[in-house]
Amino acid sequence: MSLRDFLELMEKEDQVLHVMDDVSPKFEISYIVKRFDKDGPILLFEKVSGGINRVVANVCGTRNRICEALGVNGTELYHKLLEACRSPIKPKIANDGVVCEVVEEPNLLKLPVLTHFERDAGPYITASVIHAKSPDGAFENVSIHRLQLLDERHLAIRLVPRHLYRLWCLAKEAKKDLEVAISIGTHPAVMLAAASSPPFGVNEFAVANTLLGGKLRLIKCMHVDAYAPADAELVLEGKISISREAMEGPLVDITGTYDVQRMQPIVEILGIMHRGDYLYQAVLPSGSEHRLLMGLPREAAIYEAVSKVVPKVHAVNLSVGGGGWLHAVISIEKQVDGDGKNAILAALAAHPSLKHVIAVDPDINVFDVSDVEWAIATRFQANEDLLIIENARGSTLDSSADQETGLTAKMGIDATCPMTKPKEKFEKAKIPVNERVEGLIRKLLSPK
Ligand code: MN
Repeated sequence: MSLRDFLELMEKEDQVLHVMDDVSPKFEISYIVKRFDKDGPILLFEKVSGGINRVVANVCGTRNRICEALGVNGTELYHKLLEACRSPIKPKIANDGVVCEVVEEPNLLKLPVLTHFERDAGPYITASVIHAKSPDGAFENVSIHRLQLLDERHLAIRLVPRHLYRLWCLAKEAKKDLEVAISIGTHPAVMLAAASSPPFGVNEFAVANTLLGGKLRLIKCMHVDAYAPADAELVLEGKISISREAMEGPLVDITGTYDVQRMQPIVEILGIMHRGDYLYQAVLPSGSEHRLLMGLPREAAIYEAVSKVVPKVHAVNLSVGGGGWLHAVISIEKQVDGDGKNAILAALAAHPSLKHVIAVDPDINVFDVSDVEWAIATRFQANEDLLIIENARGSTLDSSADQETGLTAKMGIDATCPMTKPKEKFEKAKIPVNERVEGLIRKLLSPK
């Protein structure tokens, strides 16, 4: 199962928009992707100036597309993702794959790497699925990291203190650079698995393999002891240096604000392999795709945690306005008053970056901001239903948090109906309807 297979399927469903005109990888592609961001199609840029390769963006740009890629719908997605993290299946290793069609000396300047925003430090690789092992081979990890283009053979990597960083620390103790395979152009299941956070030591390629029903094949790299999907579009083989650093950033992150400059490790690229006519995949920082890939695994974690404290969770939305990261809306079935607040506490614990949580009843559509606002307007009393937690750990991406300590205030809004007051007071008014009128509406809505 490859990115190409998925694109072929999407092509049949008319979900791919081909851009035939010549466009520049500097600002022009990112601007077009941003303009089509909201529930937009996959964008395939057929002619990119200065190169021969095509660029694809917004592949995982809608919830529906991700669900389709995994063959599920709605909350089934959370169950499938949680189940795959619990039962990873080791992928088979192939001897050969389409990604080996061309093997060449590295020249990163030949790749159509995009420059996205006005004040970004330069071109950045954003759809990079990175595999590495601990020096003793006991632990493997796959994760996505932004990579700043420095020259023909070097990138700067942003290593947040998570699993790849931990492997890099182990490599540092062993006094050996960390060997990595950087895969670009992979199936949505691989992207989503790499964006999720099962416990340290769980190989996310094995999680992807479970999501794909055991169909993922890997190949061993030629220059390094690391693995890549055999049907990836493009693979960079390299080493993350344990001694050499470069100034990394600024780059726009998930919240749509610029992340700061930091000294970060340099990756030396030793070899490149790719399909003959490889597609270069890009993820627009802070675009829908970025938010969904990072947010969906967190939504699943919130869904699981809140399910343990209330009778039923109907839906979770890490909302677009919250950068897909800082705000959650959860619809729950309540048994007693106080369940709303417990749901809020469970959500905050499940996703430490979360800042504001709104709990609503099942009749509220968590994906409709107006509906959520209506629930706050008619069901919420600030002196009773507001929860504030001071000086908690939050996201480093929150510009309003204390920049020295990283401490932030968390807020919960319990906008569920109080059970002590009559139910009818909170009822959403309905108009009676019959099948004939529903049919009439369908006719009015359907295109001629
Ligand atoms: Mn991991």
